[in-house]
Amino acid sequence: MIRTISLLPALLAALLAGCHVQPRANDQLDAVLWSQTSVEHDALFLQVFASATRQLQHALADPAWDALAQPPRTLQGLPPAVIVDIDETLLDNVPLNARAVLADRPYDYDAWYRWVDRAQARALPGAVAFMQAAARLGITPYYLTNREAGQEQATLDNLQRAGFPIASSAQILTAGTAIGGCQASGSDKSCRRHWVGTQARVLMQVGDSFGDFMTTRGSQQAQLQAAAPYLPWLGERWFLLPNPTYGSWYSAPYQGHEGLAEQQKRAFKHKALKPQY
Ligand SMILES: [Mg+2]
Repeated sequence: MIRTISLLPALLAALLAGCHVQPRANDQLDAVLWSQTSVEHDALFLQVFASATRQLQHALADPAWDALAQPPRTLQGLPPAVIVDIDETLLDNVPLNARAVLADRPYDYDAWYRWVDRAQARALPGAVAFMQAAARLGITPYYLTNREAGQEQATLDNLQRAGFPIASSAQILTAGTAIGGCQASGSDKSCRRHWVGTQARVLMQVGDSFGDFMTTRGSQQAQLQAAAPYLPWLGERWFLLPNPTYGSWYSAPYQGHEGLAEQQKRAFKHKALKPQY
């Protein structure tokens, strides 16, 4: 122990010598580090996709099986499908967050569009195997994403390059898609989900956001309450993946006012913490 302590200053000096500048505090650092370097991140993805894959045959065999939280509907004659989100569900975009941390700048939406257009994002662990298993069983995938309309071709190229079974960009439903006489605002997926429900019996939904399953608003407690009838579907019909880098939870403390300075956002985040139960 004495020997370890005596080596510590030298080790730190050697580590810091490799850095051009002293790293500044960045609220994304630990989330990005966990996503990119922890075995738990990859194991969770493998766990969730393996569980979903095991459930496919059972869901397919039950003609009443449905994963949409909407009034009961006639499922007879509808072909089986799965609804999957893309970003941080199938494709890993965290290198972009890592670049922002290393450059000590906030997340850059122009850089995001360029990243999508380059179509080089890699598949997340277990995702391709799950989608291929579904394809082998004749299950149609619908890719519901909040990528922008106009980025379907780049997204198709990326999904195909990463090994996902997708033949046409028509299977990619981007943000703001007016569909079936319904136009949702912003990132709300309810219109697209509802439309898929008119085309298919949805066996599963997979995503990294609760909004990938159903539309809920308000506090954490209010959202859980609204979803209460469907919570038993988690791990059965709804498969949720971890995303500590972004999501509606991230901007909730400062109510989505992205123009605020980082210090101001941080102050609101501090206010949202719960030091007592
Ligand atoms: Mg996502």
